[in-house]
Amino acid sequence: MPTTLLREEGHDITVFYANSNIAPASEYERRLVELQKYAAMQGFDVIEGTYDPDAWEKTVAPIGESLKRYSPAFGAAFAQGSSSETPSNDVPATVAELLDDERRKERCRACYRMRLEEAAAMAAEGSYEGLATTLAVSPYQFTEVIREELHRACAQAGIAAHFEDYRPYYDEATRISRELGMYRQNYCGCRFSVQEGAATRAFIKQQRKAKKAARAAERLQAQSADPQAARARAQKKAYAEAQAKKKAILKGLREKRKGD
Ligand code: SF4
Repeated sequence: MPTTLLREEGHDITVFYANSNIAPASEYERRLVELQKYAAMQGFDVIEGTYDPDAWEKTVAPIGESLKRYSPAFGAAFAQGSSSETPSNDVPATVAELLDDERRKERCRACYRMRLEEAAAMAAEGSYEGLATTLAVSPYQFTEVIREELHRACAQAGIAAHFEDYRPYYDEATRISRELGMYRQNYCGCRFSVQEGAATRAFIKQQRKAKKAARAAERLQAQSADPQAARARAQKKAYAEAQAKKKAILKGLREKRKGD
């Protein structure tokens, strides 16, 4: 979606694929191939950055490792005694609480920084007019942090930052990618986000289930609080039982006649 919008604004675009964060390497390849297919369809170029997961492990992963000690999404690792600190037993009420956002934000900031610095340096070297980012289309990212890091990286490289909050287009982007039959990943990219993605999906599923059960209980309560409705239900049940009984008697008589 961001590529379409940028072109509609009159920009001649090239996509730089800077994703040393993605693990495992097969997933990195899969997403790259998908992007290349889409770019060929839309008629824009893709440049691949250096895939350097070791650099990401050195720069960003240590922040993620320290986060594991706190995040409810990593409760299992915590329970296995990976830290001496005591986890909170509070049940998270929201996805943000589950993922312990403030700390996760630090890790994602470092991740954005690394990739946007690489993209901005490449853009400056290739004499591009400016840099935008498709990261800003996802409602699951820290949009304000992305904006700050894009401006920071561009100022450092001496190019223009073109930030736009594309989140309002997320649903449309999702719909288009489904219609095109494109691969849709279910985690952001890094090895931490694999577990966070799974925890988030399980959390949302559990919340939906709890809401459904609460609605059913409310309905039942409302029905039993209404004596007229309860009487109507009992009458309907008695009628259905009487009809079934009648049918069984008639069936028995028919079978008896056939036998005579
Ligand atoms: S969740 Fe996404 S943005 Fe955050 S550190 Fe992992 S790959 Fe980077």
